[in-house]
Amino acid sequence: MHCPFCRHPDSRVVDSRTSDDGATIRRRRQCPNCSRRFSTSETASLSVHKRSGVSEPFSRAKVISGVRKACQGRPVTDDQLAMLAQRVEEDIRSSGQAEIDAHQVGLSILHPLQELDLVAYLRFASVYQDFESLDDFEAAIVRLRSESAGTA
Ligand SMILES: [Zn+2]
Repeated sequence: MHCPFCRHPDSRVVDSRTSDDGATIRRRRQCPNCSRRFSTSETASLSVHKRSGVSEPFSRAKVISGVRKACQGRPVTDDQLAMLAQRVEEDIRSSGQAEIDAHQVGLSILHPLQELDLVAYLRFASVYQDFESLDDFEAAIVRLRSESAGTA
């Protein structure tokens, strides 16, 4: 980050603040050369490319609202949903990509949702993976049974 006054190529961060949505980090910096201070705004950008062709910023709230529908009537708390959304975001950010496909968001949701509630998982997977017949459900259930047998 060059100093805007003297073009010194280095600067020291004196204060950082994250915006409410967590997407932007505002930093106060001080130039070690001329000692002047300036602010920078950095976006920890993570956008989701949707099937419609539109990109939008990644949103935990959207993850939660999508998963909440699948959790209707299930013993899943808001705290658990928030944790799930956090895991999804960490999972996606750890890939280091700035833009990801909406499909990848869905894939990142499936694993933690499977740990949270199997019925909600099946509902979500049925929409998300385009289950078309009972066979698709059956295959998914057989897989879940064999996985839970493996861990029991
Ligand atoms: Zn300077």
